[in-house]
Amino acid sequence: MRVRERLVAGNWKMNGTLASARALIEGLRRELMPLTGVKVAVCPAFVHLRDVAALLSDMPVTRRICLGAQNLSPHPPGAHTGEVEGGMLKELGCRYVIVGHSERRREEGETDEIVAAKFARAHEVGLTPILCVGETLAERESGATEQVVARQLDAVLSGGAKVFAEAVIAYEPVWAIGTGRVAEPAQAQAVHAFLRRRLAGHDAGAAARARILYGGSVKAANAAALFAEADIDGALVGGASLDAAEFAAICHAAERQR
Ligand code: PEP
Repeated sequence: MRVRERLVAGNWKMNGTLASARALIEGLRRELMPLTGVKVAVCPAFVHLRDVAALLSDMPVTRRICLGAQNLSPHPPGAHTGEVEGGMLKELGCRYVIVGHSERRREEGETDEIVAAKFARAHEVGLTPILCVGETLAERESGATEQVVARQLDAVLSGGAKVFAEAVIAYEPVWAIGTGRVAEPAQAQAVHAFLRRRLAGHDAGAAARARILYGGSVKAANAAALFAEADIDGALVGGASLDAAEFAAICHAAERQR
């Protein structure tokens, strides 16, 4: 039996309509069997959170799906036009929040410092951050993978390693996101083990408990091989999380590999 409960989280990104978000939850209600030792979360767009929260609260307890957001402001409440504050997400029923996704680092210019501030803010309001780290193809090819993920992790660790006891890290090689090109299980495992060793250098107990997810073109067909690796504690799923049957199959693969 594993020490760490697995987590499979769906990142719906900026997709869908209210109707398709509802249909997706209805699909999960049909497809998802009761799971043991696996937590499931979905992260819809901000504007769909309230409706999805209401639908999730109606799910049978044995199939309970948690709610997550895709981003939060690094600031406490105040004059920050267009931003969404962590406490607001908590009030809507969110349990998780993704921070430092590579699309935000690339498209919105989020630096390690901004990501660290968002991570800290999530903790302040009682949300569990899912910290995304990962290298680009050029960085991998130049042998800089460990250096890049170490820098991204260290920026957050400087806020105090204690927070990692219940935090979640997602290793998402940028070259595997939305490309259909998945990391080899052994390739992913090597980076996961590196991240756990790095955490252990700060706090051995937290390192043993922290869940490290893999993200990057995870599908039902490749999930089981990834989950078989010792340090892969689940998945952050983009494209495949928009298909209820496919996402449910990934969640079931996580349970089989317990
Ligand atoms: C993601 O964006 O977090 C992701 C892993 O996407 P995909 O599964 O589509 O590669």
